[in-house]
Amino acid sequence: MLNQKLKIAIQKSGRLHEDSVRLLQECGIDLQNGLNKLKTEASNFPLEAYFLRDDDIPQYVEDEVADVGIVGENVILEKEKHVQIVEQLGFGKCRLSIAIPKDQEYKGIHDLQGKRIATSYPHIVAQYLASHQVKAEIHEISGSVEIAPSIGLADAICDLVSSGSTLFMNGLREVETILHSQAVLISHNRLNEYTSQLLEQLRFRIQAVKKSRH
Ligand code: ATP
Ligand code: ZN
Repeated sequence: MLNQKLKIAIQKSGRLHEDSVRLLQECGIDLQNGLNKLKTEASNFPLEAYFLRDDDIPQYVEDEVADVGIVGENVILEKEKHVQIVEQLGFGKCRLSIAIPKDQEYKGIHDLQGKRIATSYPHIVAQYLASHQVKAEIHEISGSVEIAPSIGLADAICDLVSSGSTLFMNGLREVETILHSQAVLISHNRLNEYTSQLLEQLRFRIQAVKKSRH
């Protein structure tokens, strides 16, 4: 019991990395220097951090390799893992949107009927289209989705957007917003008494940090 720690999975590098580490710091949790390593311990809280690709975090939490993790809601919704969202964190805000070449006419979602849509979010897009009775071809690609229309791979894309500048630079315009997302703290629901106490302490501190940011 005494040397047990709360294991937290954090993005290794990318858009959520810095804000995740900063949040822990503002919670008074000092991660030891090893930020370049895959694993590090806090010096003043029973916590161990693992640095991973964001896409892998829900699986690690579901498998209990980590107890908790910080990841975008968009990833949770796409992967449909058995994890629960315990806290919204207020950073990593973005939306998942459908975009088309800017000169193309668009009157509504039915204009996507029969079209090819490139995305890294095939599940969410399929559900969204089905809920509007639209049939389209979904092409799953893992990155650089925004160039798909210009190279003839797709008629439309569905990707994460924050300012919209990437879409603009690629001659695309946003026509449908499927969901809004932010970073969330997730956990599996089989924490033992001690680790769930640690999670409660962490949540308490996170809530205090969130309040102080308002
Ligand atoms: P990894 O190497 O960990 O797989 P990645 O390239 O898949 O990283 P990032 O681009 O770093 O992921 O994005 C991580 C998360 O940041 C996204 O899943 C999303 O929740 C959030 N995010 C916020 N704004 C944006 C944006 N404009 N574009 C992409 N993701 C964003
Ligand atoms: Zn990723």
